[in-house]
Amino acid sequence: MKLTKKTAYLQLHRICDQDCIFCAQPTNGKYLNFWEITQQIDYYHTEWYTDIIFSGGEPSMSPYFFETLKYCRELGLEMRILTNGHMFEDKEFAKKSLEEWLHSYHISLHSHIERIHDTMVKKEWSYKRSLRAMNNILLYWWELTINITINNYNVSYFPKTILFFLKMFPDLKGFIINNLETSQITSKYYGVIASLGDIKKIIIPAIEYIQSYDKDVRIERVPMCYMRWYEHLSTDVEYSLMDEVKYLHYLDDNTISGELTRDTFSADYTYWDNCNSCDLKWICAWLDGIGKHYSQDDFISQSLSQTELRDLQNNISHFLKTG
Ligand code: SF4
Repeated sequence: MKLTKKTAYLQLHRICDQDCIFCAQPTNGKYLNFWEITQQIDYYHTEWYTDIIFSGGEPSMSPYFFETLKYCRELGLEMRILTNGHMFEDKEFAKKSLEEWLHSYHISLHSHIERIHDTMVKKEWSYKRSLRAMNNILLYWWELTINITINNYNVSYFPKTILFFLKMFPDLKGFIINNLETSQITSKYYGVIASLGDIKKIIIPAIEYIQSYDKDVRIERVPMCYMRWYEHLSTDVEYSLMDEVKYLHYLDDNTISGELTRDTFSADYTYWDNCNSCDLKWICAWLDGIGKHYSQDDFISQSLSQTELRDLQNNISHFLKTG
C-alpha cells in the first residue's frame, strides 16, 4: 500500500506579528531573500515536488510573498499556506493571492472565544482579523481549513468550539486538529499542554461533529490508542505508509534542510516500551515530550482481532485513495 507524494515545506522567514505561547517555530529574525527562495523552489521543481507549503513565521508578511507565489504558479506547483490570516483581512491582498493561484489557506484559530484565542497568541486584535480574513477567502471560494491546537485553555469545551466554527463557516473545507509540539514551549507555559486523558475525552466527539457536517478532518500528534476507530484520520498514517517525501527548509539556528522520512527517527526515539507489542505500531509515529510531559503509562498497547485489523486496513486504503 505505497503511494507517492512529494511535499516541500518552505519557511520564507521566521518573523511573525503574533507571539503564540506554544509556537513551534518562533520568531528568530531569519529570512530568505528572493534569490534564496527561488533556489529552493527550483530544487523542488527539478526533483518533481508537486506541492509546496509556505510556513514561517508568518509567510504572508514576507516582502517577497507575491513574487514567490508568481514564481511557483509559473512552475505549476500546487501552493498551500499556513497563516494567522491577518494580512488577508485586506480584500485586495486576499484577491491578489488568489489571482496568483494560492489555492489553499490554513488559518490558525485556537478558540471561538475571542479573549482566549487572543491570550494564546498574545495579541488582543488577532481573532477579529483572522475572522475577517476567513470571510474574504471564502468570498472567492477557495479552500479554507482551520488549524486548531488542543491545549489546556480550550480542551474542556473543544467540541463546542468545533461546532461553533462549523456553523459560522458552512463553506469551510475542514479542520486540522493538532496536539501541541512541546519541544519549543518554555517552562513558564508548560501548563498549556493538555493531558492525553483530557484529549481522549474530546477527540472523538470533535471528529464526529466535523464528519456530521461532511467536512475533512486530520489529527496530528494524538497517539492512536486515544483515537481508536479513527486511526485513518491521523497524519501519522500518511507519514508511515505513503511513499511520501516531505522536504523541510527550516530557518533554525542551524538551518535544517532536507527530506524527512520515518527512518529519520530511530526506533528508540519513535517508540517506547508499551508500544513494542502494540498492533498499531506500524501506523503510529511519534510524540515529543515523553518522560517530560507524558509518561510511559499514557501509552496503552492495543491488541486487534483479525477483523479489526482488516477493517482498519480497508479504512486506511480507502482514505489514502480518496482522502
Ligand atoms: S501504545 Fe504506542 S504504538 Fe500503540 S497506539 Fe499507543 S502510542 Fe501508538
